[in-house]
Order: sequence, then C-alpha cells, then structure tokens
Amino acid sequence: MEKKNIDWSNLGFGYQVTDKRFVSNYKNGAWDDGVLTEDATITMTECAGVLQYAQTCFEGLKAYTTEDGRTVCFRPDLNASRMKDSCIRLRMPVFPEDRFVEAVKQVVRANEAYVPPYGSGATLYIRPYMFGSSAVIGVKPAEEYQFRMFTTPVGPYFKGGAKPITIRVCDYDRAAPNGTGHIKAGLNYAMSLYQIVEAHDLGYDENMYLDAATRTYVEETGGANFIFITKDGKLVTPKSDSILPSITRRSLMEVAEKYLGMQVEHREVRLDELQDFAECGLCGTAAVISPVGKVVDHGKEICFPSGMEEMGPVTKKLYDTLTGIQMGRIEAPEGWIVEI
Ligand SMILES: *Cc1c(COP(=O)(O)O)cnc(C)c1O
Repeated sequence: MEKKNIDWSNLGFGYQVTDKRFVSNYKNGAWDDGVLTEDATITMTECAGVLQYAQTCFEGLKAYTTEDGRTVCFRPDLNASRMKDSCIRLRMPVFPEDRFVEAVKQVVRANEAYVPPYGSGATLYIRPYMFGSSAVIGVKPAEEYQFRMFTTPVGPYFKGGAKPITIRVCDYDRAAPNGTGHIKAGLNYAMSLYQIVEAHDLGYDENMYLDAATRTYVEETGGANFIFITKDGKLVTPKSDSILPSITRRSLMEVAEKYLGMQVEHREVRLDELQDFAECGLCGTAAVISPVGKVVDHGKEICFPSGMEEMGPVTKKLYDTLTGIQMGRIEAPEGWIVEI
C-alpha cells in the first residue's frame, strides 16, 4: 500500500479530508446496507432533528500501524456498544454493533493510505456519528437517521514530550444526576464550549467538573476521565453515573491490575482528598494519558508531587504498558487488538 505523502510527525489534531467515508441511512424503521462514498458533504432538510434539537451522538477511535506492520484498531466493539447506549438514551435507532465494527474495517481499508506508519506517533482517527435527518418541528425524535463514519489522520498528541497540564475546578456543571453525562452526545460538548474558552483565556488547559448535586466529588473534564495514583501506588479513578465511561480508563484499570499488579479502586473521589494523591492524569483515546501537574480550586493550588516537568513514574508505567499493548510490543488481552 502506497502511503500518502504526509509529514506524519508534524500533523496536528485537526480535520483533513480523506478519500472515503461510510454512510448508512435509516428509513421506514430499517438501516440500509450502507456504502463507502467520496462525498464528504451532507445535504438535508433545514428542519432536521439534529439541527433543531441536537439529536446526535458520536464516537472516537483510532487505527494505526503496529510494530510488525499490521493495521489495527483498539477495542472497536466497546465503541459500538457505547454508541448503542448513547442512541437508546437519545431515542435514536441503534446501528447494529457487529455492523459498526465491520464499518470500521471497511472505512479504514478504504483509507489505508492515510494510516500513519509505525513510530510516527500519528494515527488515523475514526469518527462514527449519527444524527436525526428528517424534519421535526414539535419536540420529538426524528423518523429518519444517518449513520456516518469518516477518518482523518492526526499527529502525535504530545510533540516533544508530555508536559503536565494545569486545570481549574469549574463553576459550571457538565452533567446532572440522571442526566446525559454518561453518553457521548453532542449536546454535552456544545454546553462545555463557554467554560473551556473561559478556562483557556485564564491560562488553564482544562476544566475539572464536580458532581452537580453536591459539588464535593470529582467527575471528569470535558473530554477525558481522571486517574489518580496514591502515595502507596494504587490507581484510583472516580465513579459516578454521570461520567462518560472512557474505554481508555477501563483499559488502564485492567492493565494496572493484570500487567502491573497494582491495586485499583473505582470509587467516589472527594475534591478535598486531591492533595493526598501523588500523581494525576487525564485519559482518553486522543492522548491515552495526559499528566496533570496542578489543579487550581478558586486560587488554592493543589500541586502533585510528580511536578510540572514530566509524567509521574506510575502514570508513565501505565502509559508505556497500554501504548505497548496497542502498538503490538506487549501481548494484548484477548480481543483488544482488531486487525483491519
Ligand atoms: C470520549 C470521552 C472520554 C474518553 O473516552 P475514551 O473512550 O477513552 O476515548 C472521556 N470523557 C468524555 C466526556 C468523553 O466524551
């Protein structure tokens, strides 16, 4: 396979059009067979459910080249299953999970020339999404839907090493108890934009959201789950029904326990216990883990002992083990690596 002439290691995290995308339409109660198309645009009614009432959800995963030259992706079955949960909550039809995984394979094969080579640090980001495409004016679910999946090559998340970031405790809430925080709905991102721009203007990299009901427990950021390392080397990660179940975080919990012999605690984490942790990180598909050096709570600085220069040692071990599994340098648990 002839690769595109792209300067892989200098790619940013932005959209770049690739050759083909997968499209399937839902009409009269059924999904059609779906096709790969060169058309990167969408035409729909001005009154579409997605445009009026934000009836849309999405997923995100990556395809990449392993050390031995295979093109693979990481646990796409979990993206399929999470998208099912999102669709159910938004009263959208589920795109069958086996067909989702098949579409991932089709769309990556069709854009194989954009899958970055091993060692470049770049990956081919895959964006599955679904939206209500038929007209709705009274508030109700649309009758027709479109499911699409496009790819875009993205550069290494950290250029020149993973520098710890600074985050602030945010006064805005992300998710209500019994709300939609646990699904990957566009609406959760639309309402986060105001406060992420504000955070950046004030010099912070991310917002730390607290539980909306009591504002005593740590939830997550706008797009990543938290992990903490205790001084005695345990992995602690917040538990709440309004946190988005990150596939990276769930994988790290398994890696910590089974590969590194660490104790793992999935439990409520109080804001006032942050000062007791040795390390902190954010986890998600894009960066795998971003180290957090400092949390600022209304002027009060909580500085993790791992500092502002580099990833903490335990976080680094987790990062190296999970990326080693992903890249084929370390044997993966059954089913984690899916060959394209
Ligand atoms: C997508 C997302 C994550 C990360 O999930 P991964 O499956 O690890 O990529 C975390 N939090 C939120 C709010 C998200 O939307």
